[in-house]
Amino acid sequence: MSTEQYLDDVFTQVVARNGHEPEFHQAVREVLDSLAPVLDRHPEYREAAVLERIVEPERQVVFRVPWVDDEGRVRVNRGFRTQFSSVLGPYKGGLRFHPSVDAGIVKFLGFEQIFKNALTGLAIGGGKGGSDFDPHGRSDAEVMRFCQSFMSELFRHVGEHTDVPAGDIGVGAREIGYLYGQYTRLTNRWEAGVLTGKGLAWGGSLARTEATGYGAVLFAADALAYRGLVLDGRRVVVSGSGNVAVHAIAKAQQLGADVVACSDSRGAVLDERGIDVDLLRQVREVERLPVEVYAQRRGAHYEPGARPWAFGAQVALPCATQNELDEDDARALLDAGVLAVVEGANMPTTPKAAALLTENRVVFAPGKAANAGGVATSALEMQQNAARDSWTFEQTEARLAAIMHDLHDRTLETADRFGAPGDYVVGANIAGFTRVADAMLALGVI
Ligand code: GLU
Repeated sequence: MSTEQYLDDVFTQVVARNGHEPEFHQAVREVLDSLAPVLDRHPEYREAAVLERIVEPERQVVFRVPWVDDEGRVRVNRGFRTQFSSVLGPYKGGLRFHPSVDAGIVKFLGFEQIFKNALTGLAIGGGKGGSDFDPHGRSDAEVMRFCQSFMSELFRHVGEHTDVPAGDIGVGAREIGYLYGQYTRLTNRWEAGVLTGKGLAWGGSLARTEATGYGAVLFAADALAYRGLVLDGRRVVVSGSGNVAVHAIAKAQQLGADVVACSDSRGAVLDERGIDVDLLRQVREVERLPVEVYAQRRGAHYEPGARPWAFGAQVALPCATQNELDEDDARALLDAGVLAVVEGANMPTTPKAAALLTENRVVFAPGKAANAGGVATSALEMQQNAARDSWTFEQTEARLAAIMHDLHDRTLETADRFGAPGDYVVGANIAGFTRVADAMLALGVI
C-alpha cells in the first residue's frame, strides 16, 4: 500500500471511530498531510503502528459536574479530560470552560497538544480537558462551586507525575485557584506541580501569564527575520482580548509594531492610535466587560459582529479560538498585503485559509509551534515547583525566549530536511511527531 493510501486509511479509521467530531478530524488530517516524507524515510514507524496508536487517546474521562447556582438551583455540566500521550512526560494541557466544549473539541486540543509539547523539547506529554460550563455572567461564588465540583472528580485522574492541567479559554488564575484549593483539600497534599498557571503567592511562575502571547510574537519576529523582514513599524491586527491576545499586543508593541485591532466574540475594535493595553485589561480582565466598552472609553471604532481581519494588516495574530480565520478573511488579508499569519490560538485558521496563505507565500506559523510558549513556561513552573524555587521574571522570560528561538529554528530546519523549505506546518508536525514516535518505539507496544 502506498504511503498516501496508508495515511488515508488511518484517517478513515479516525473518522469512523470519532463521529461528529469535525475539529478532531481537521487536526488529524493536517498532521497526517505532513507525514508522508517521514514515513517513507522511517518504515519502522509504520511497522510499529505508531500512527494508529497516536490518534487514539490513552485514556478519556467524561464526568458529571453538578453544582448549585446563586438561586439555589441545581445545575449539571459535563466535564472532560482526554489523556492523549504520556511517552514524553505527564499529560500536560489546559482546561477550557466554554459552552462549545464537547468530546471532539477536547480531543482536537489534546491531539494538537501532543505535538506542541514535544516541540518544546521539555518532558511533557499531551492532554486537554474542560467543560461546557460558561463562566461568563456567573458570580465568583458560582464559579467557585463549579470548580470545586469539577475537581471533586478530576482529582483522582491528575497529579504532578500523572497529568498536569492548566488554563485555557474561560480558565484563568481565579479558576486555577479554586481548582487547586479543592485539590489540596481532597488529597491533604501540598502538591504545587499538579496544576500550572497558579498565582504567584502559591507556587505560580513569573512570566507564565505573559508566556503564550509573548512567545507567539517572538516566533513572529523570528519568522519575519528568516525572510529578511522586521516586526518594527508593522501594522498588526490581533483577534481576541483574553490572556493570549493582551500579552501578544504588549510584546508586539515592545518590539515596535503598531497594533491597531483586537476583538471578542461580539465584535471588533479598530484603534488607529494603537491599542491601549492597560485600558483593555481594565475592561476585559478587571471589569469583565466586552471590548465595545473599551472602544467607547477610548473613542475608537467598534464594529459589532465583525472580526478584525477586514481592517487589514501586515502581520495577523489570531489569538481567540479555532476556525476564526476563514478563506474570505485570508483573501481580505492578502488584498491588504499581509506578510505573516502567526497563530496564538489553537487551530484558528481554517485549512482552506491556510492553503491560500501558503500558496501566496505568506509566512504561516501554526499554533502548535507559535503558541508553545505558554505550555513551555508551564513546564518551567513545574521545574520551579519540583525544586521549591522561584525564578525572577527576567530568568523565566529568558528561558522562554531561548525555547521559542530554538523551537523556531528546529521547525525550519526539519522542514528543510524533509523537502519543504520555509514550511512551518510540515516542520512542526514532523519535528513534533518524530520526538513522540521515537519514544513510542523505545517504550514498546504501549
Ligand atoms: N492552554 C494552553 C495551550 O493551549 C496552555 C497549556 C498548559 O500550559 O498546560 O497550550
